[in-house]
Amino acid sequence: DTRGTDGEFGDGDFEGGGTTIVKPVVAVVGRPNVGKSTLVNRIIGRQEAVVQDVPGVTRDRVSYDANWNGREFILVDTGGWVSDATGMAAQIAEQAEMAIAAADAVLFVVDATVGTVDEDEAVVRVLRRSKKPVVLAANKVDDARTEAEAASMWNLGLGQPWAVSALHGRGTGDMLDAVLDALPEAPRETLEEIGGPRRVALVGKPNVGKSSLLNKFAGQQRSVVDNVAGTTVDPVDELVEVDGTVYRFIDTAGIRRRVKEASGHEYYASLRTHRAIERAECCVVLIEAAEEITEQDLRILSMVEDAGRALVIAFNKWDLTDDERRFYLDREIERDLHGFTWAAKVNISAMTGRNVHKLSQAIEEALTGWETRISTGKLNAFLGRLVASHPHPVRGGKQPRILFGTQAQNRPPTFVLFTSGKLDDGYLRFVERRLREEFDFTGTPVHVEMRARE
Ligand code: GDP
Ligand code: GDP
Repeated sequence: DTRGTDGEFGDGDFEGGGTTIVKPVVAVVGRPNVGKSTLVNRIIGRQEAVVQDVPGVTRDRVSYDANWNGREFILVDTGGWVSDATGMAAQIAEQAEMAIAAADAVLFVVDATVGTVDEDEAVVRVLRRSKKPVVLAANKVDDARTEAEAASMWNLGLGQPWAVSALHGRGTGDMLDAVLDALPEAPRETLEEIGGPRRVALVGKPNVGKSSLLNKFAGQQRSVVDNVAGTTVDPVDELVEVDGTVYRFIDTAGIRRRVKEASGHEYYASLRTHRAIERAECCVVLIEAAEEITEQDLRILSMVEDAGRALVIAFNKWDLTDDERRFYLDREIERDLHGFTWAAKVNISAMTGRNVHKLSQAIEEALTGWETRISTGKLNAFLGRLVASHPHPVRGGKQPRILFGTQAQNRPPTFVLFTSGKLDDGYLRFVERRLREEFDFTGTPVHVEMRARE
């Protein structure tokens, strides 16, 4: 086991070590129409969390990667969880409670132009009980005239109200500074636990077979592992032995416990998926083999890639497929999964147990690629050959060149190329492809960055 070792090089040779930080979570809560989604849009700087004018329309995303002053966090939008604005204090409080439970800090949004109402008070009670740090945003303060109304929010007893306008951006910078201050100093958790069991997340849309697969794994288990040296296990995780290797399955409580009866469950499920991916080293994304690949499947795959985690794709319910379906599945894989040719694909049945043992091999392989370190000498010998046989095309009379390369990080492998002139994107992708072929990075995202010297 060579986890965390630097190969031939000491730490000084690299920009980063093998630590992957788990991002803190900020939940945005408040009653409907106070401007939560607008504020989320403002913070993430995109129009992704579409503000809904139609009540009750389901939104399919709930958590977003956000960044303020270089600090990364996950922002949870609870806007749209409750569709009706009146008489729903209990429901609002219940939804807020779920989001708050999963959060490191809470951004509580109220409407300064309306003042506090019953539904606000219901959320305040939940906040008090949770003991989580709270930042109070008094929204819709579009100009100086409304500032005084924001000040009246002191009466909520949650400390200073930050007067903001989600719509125009007024005051949001100071508010975000306060949010960062409220976050725990050290990351709650890092993925660096040298020698501990591998962290694996089973993710996929509802009913794809996550809990069946977990049960299959747990059923094979010869002895219940409850005392692996040097590990503390999060109560929501489970240690399970698969083919002689102990894995820590992440957030199995969320898989085993059916949260389906709660309204807003899709949002909660999506948030849990995001969190599980963040906490895992390797993600097994389950996809229904017998049904067409969906947008939701692709979104989950992208979340894994964006998070930089090792990936195995499992087509489950293989027992339900026939020759015709398999033919179409191959076409769909070509059409929809061309961005994921680097991940192993295993056809399984959580019900019959088909190929389930192959999964653990694929997980091992993906993790090996994810942690690989290539020595600078080896890397540059490879780059030298590559540049000699496939030089970059001449651009405007000049030829961009790779001068030198180094692997700045693993988990996942990240390479920095020092160049004269700027490399084309196509050439960078070509280098990535060749790196994958040469060093066998099956199952791991690979990042190739460039530092150009003119
Ligand atoms: P949510 O239900 O809490 O997510 O609220 P939305 O973000 O959907 O916003 C509800 C309504 O308030 C929308 O019509 C927004 O355009 C409006 N709104 C949100 N923020 C502001 C603001 O800062 N100023 C003003 N004037 N309107 C806002
Ligand atoms: P989860 O929501 O992703 O945890 O999915 P479950 O494990 O609860 O499975 C949903 C349904 O699919 C259940 O009725 C399972 O019995 C069924 N199921 C799961 N895996 C398989 C499989 O490999 N083959 C078949 N035929 N059914 C399966």
